[in-house]
Amino acid sequence: MIDAFLRHFAIPCLLCGQSQRQTASICRDCTRDLPWLPRSCPNCAIPWPLHPRTSCSAGNLAFDDCSAAFAYEFPVQPLIIRFKDFEQLHLGRALSLLLTQGPLKSRIRPDRLIPVPSHRRRLRKRGFNPAELIAKDVSEQLAIPISLHAIQKVTETPPQKHQSRADRLSSPTNPFALQQSVQGEHIAVVDDVVTSMATAHQVSEVLRFGGAQRISIWSIARTLPVKRSSRPPTGDQRMIQWRGL
Ligand SMILES: [Zn+2]
Ligand SMILES: [Zn+2]
Repeated sequence: MIDAFLRHFAIPCLLCGQSQRQTASICRDCTRDLPWLPRSCPNCAIPWPLHPRTSCSAGNLAFDDCSAAFAYEFPVQPLIIRFKDFEQLHLGRALSLLLTQGPLKSRIRPDRLIPVPSHRRRLRKRGFNPAELIAKDVSEQLAIPISLHAIQKVTETPPQKHQSRADRLSSPTNPFALQQSVQGEHIAVVDDVVTSMATAHQVSEVLRFGGAQRISIWSIARTLPVKRSSRPPTGDQRMIQWRGL
């Protein structure tokens, strides 16, 4: 009966287009071939082979740990771009579900989730906050409370892709402001992509100042340091039929 139901309602995989007898948006084979980050530094989410265990650049930052499901590369990168810039919200949902089924399964449960906020002008332009949608999905899947207005972005900053790493990390003022008490709480800050960690640090600074006891960063993807040519491919990219992504 269930088989007949799934056959009838089989949906094509987002990546290879194969019809599949399961309810996930990405088929089992494509899920296995995604650029997962299985063994990573708990502080910054960079995989061990790319990161000497003795030197972590996140050591001085305001959060305690950072988890990301994927390297920000093919095919996760174009999926996130289509989610954020072309409003294909189902892609964000598919990736959020994989985040909850992957690294977050074994993480310490926080008291609540707080998405990285967008400035109101940017929110008006885009129409939605990608981090908020991801946090809502994670909250629903893992049954963790979420606060959508605990932090506000009071100063507009240019998108990180238009800034150098030095600019991002040396920003003199923190654009975020805390609106609620977080005294003694463990907060997981949710974002779509962690790049320089500047945003994660700034949000964590205001939470720390507000008395948060532990701060985790949870993200769909993590930008990795260059040296890409020396790294073995993380997924079987040849087999993925690129469906316009
Ligand atoms: Zn597939
Ligand atoms: Zn690290």
